[in-house]
Amino acid sequence: MSKNQNKTGSYSFFNCIEKNFDKAARFISIKKGLLEQIKACNSVYRMHFPVKIGKEIKVIEAYRVQHSHHKLPCKGGIRYSMKVNQDEIMTLAALMTYKCAIVDVPFGGSKGGIKIDPQTISSENIEKITRRYTSELIKKNFIGPGIDVPAPDYGTGEREMSWIFDTFLSLRSGDVDALACVTGKPVSQGGVRGRKEATGLGVFYGIRELCHVKEDMYSVGLDVGLVGKKIIIQGLGNVGYHAASFFHESGAIIIALAEREGAIYNEKGLNVSKVFLHLKNNGSILNFPEAKNIENTEKALELECDILIPAALENVIHKNNANRIKAKIIGEAANGPITPEADEILDKKGVIIVPDIYLNAGGVTVSYFEWLKNLSHVRYGRMEKKFRENVNAEFLKVIETVCKKKISIEEKKMILRGPREIDLVRSGLEDTMINGFHKIRDLKKSLKIENIRTAAFVLSINKIIDSYEKLGIFP
Ligand code: NAD
Repeated sequence: MSKNQNKTGSYSFFNCIEKNFDKAARFISIKKGLLEQIKACNSVYRMHFPVKIGKEIKVIEAYRVQHSHHKLPCKGGIRYSMKVNQDEIMTLAALMTYKCAIVDVPFGGSKGGIKIDPQTISSENIEKITRRYTSELIKKNFIGPGIDVPAPDYGTGEREMSWIFDTFLSLRSGDVDALACVTGKPVSQGGVRGRKEATGLGVFYGIRELCHVKEDMYSVGLDVGLVGKKIIIQGLGNVGYHAASFFHESGAIIIALAEREGAIYNEKGLNVSKVFLHLKNNGSILNFPEAKNIENTEKALELECDILIPAALENVIHKNNANRIKAKIIGEAANGPITPEADEILDKKGVIIVPDIYLNAGGVTVSYFEWLKNLSHVRYGRMEKKFRENVNAEFLKVIETVCKKKISIEEKKMILRGPREIDLVRSGLEDTMINGFHKIRDLKKSLKIENIRTAAFVLSINKIIDSYEKLGIFP
């Protein structure tokens, strides 16, 4: 039995991360105690608070965990789910630390969770719970632009982030940087354009980059490029829906989509926006006219495909189904969708796994851009858009004079355009995901590391060590 396993021989979620960490530690020469410090969760805040729901008083269980203070503020989403527990939130906080280091986002990792099922609670009561949770965080100094900055995660979105901001502002009135206390807000409340789709778009950029590496594609018997690749996506929420849309637009074929209630399948491809409309109108993806229903949603993961994207929850690929997975590439859009046992089985089968700590980092990357925007109090592109357009116009005039040729109005429109906020955010995200991929891949090659996950952990841990060393904590 490995030291990361519990008495029953299985792994807790936190043990899974420790196991991945230990695999990476073999490639790092530093004192063991220092590695233990990086692994440990710095602060765990478990709370219970009362909320009046109807005529009853309900006691709500909730958490905020700050995994690492090597950089501040801490950063991490808040999830609403009946599965929320301390082990899960600690693990997700740890993943945030490693994720931020990989994509050069200067935050420590944190995570929060409230044990509720938002699907069965009215929005009025979700608001009450969210506001009370925020005030509990304020009381214990667990939230603030320079302390700890939440964001959306499973079961939460812009609406909840708006309530968090409003509660923070009302209890900290006059704080000129209050907007930066939370990210993932609506644009009208200080959010940044491009945050909502950022995680899904980051997943798309990461997988696209892999699909352009000839050596990697040939190793699993696939052609180079995304066009025509058959993809299955589990979870049609924020991350899954946007990832599916970007893959669909790029010419990949979405052959199956899986949700809680079941999955749908069409070998020729599903139109993602039509499926989403069907889901909105019917409350279920099932019975979509252009697809076959699969009643047991888990079975969708086992269908023949090139790329499998789990974008719902953790531990969905485990030792009991790993052998039946036929995908050649798995992109971890969700956090921790593959258990360590399944990871080993899939590794042996030669499946390329693009790990969560890199692949779903698009959300925190754009959250970082939102935080910077809030601290600078100015929209991206506001200062330079017109200036760039004027310079481009002058440049164009010179080209037309020198070449003695008029450029068409359509071409002019394209060339003259100055950058808007969405252009800058997306280019920053694309650059981050491309760089991250190649840094991990180069390290994997140079140290002969067995897989991308371990290489990603090595890259991340080395950056955290560097940061601690520069702080002067490590001798
Ligand atoms: P979400 O709540 O918007 O969507 C999750 C979707 O998964 C929902 O549509 C839900 O119905 C579906 N689902 C739940 N159980 C399922 C099951 N058994 N089978 C199939 N579908 C199921 O959440 P999200 O924000 O999209 O997050 C999804 C995952 O991505 C989580 O693991 C989260 O931690 C991770 N993540 C999210 C972000 C972000 O920016 N939102 C960033 C990084 C990582």
